Amino acid sequence: MGYNVAIDGPAGAGKSTIAKLVAKEKGYIYVDTGAMYRGLAIHFLKKGVSADDKEAVAAACRDAEVTIGYEDGIQQVYLNGENVTSMLRTEEVGNMASRTSAIPAVREKLLELQRSLARTQDVIMDGRDIGTNILPDADVKIYLTASVETRAKRRYDELREKGEACDLESIAHDIRERDERDMTREIAPLKQAEDAVLVDSSDMTIQEVVDKICSYCK
Ligand code: C5P
Repeated sequence: MGYNVAIDGPAGAGKSTIAKLVAKEKGYIYVDTGAMYRGLAIHFLKKGVSADDKEAVAAACRDAEVTIGYEDGIQQVYLNGENVTSMLRTEEVGNMASRTSAIPAVREKLLELQRSLARTQDVIMDGRDIGTNILPDADVKIYLTASVETRAKRRYDELREKGEACDLESIAHDIRERDERDMTREIAPLKQAEDAVLVDSSDMTIQEVVDKICSYCK
């Protein structure tokens, strides 16, 4: 069994930024599980499957193979052999991933891939149900959160930096909706594991959060 660090929390809490830095400092492999849900979402979008049609989504899962690899230490996602990493981070794909991740067939599809990665190597894995469901025996569990306002402002700054037009209110609205979906779904909802450490990054710098999490890790 590898050494396992689980980081869960809502969209925009900074999980991937923080997890990448902790991975670098501690020599762990960073596993981004949201990217796997996004990879499957691309498959559904390509096939024109509606997120509301659970049976069609479940059927579409049967001809999708999601795998991951690493190039220069950066996680790559492959969908049926094609590297789809550069297509993962659009709003369309994020929304499709958020909606279809509530469907049991989608979660089952990715469960074993996530567990097998953690079995053989030291990983820091981020997602929504890692500490509660995927790796219940993780050595360290962190629940990383921040206020909706802080998360919306971070996303807004990120998009502005990329030169994309955006609106703070609609980003906050989208975040609230995504929180609601992730926290209230029947299967593997987002919640803090009983044995997870709560870290609220609203008033912390990135380095402060990294240092805090590293202090819990071997
Ligand atoms: O973290 P990210 O925004 O990339 O995840 C995309 C979507 O995948 C999330 O909105 C969430 O609904 C879903 N997800 C999940 N369980 C995980 C990781 C992501 O349900 N472990």
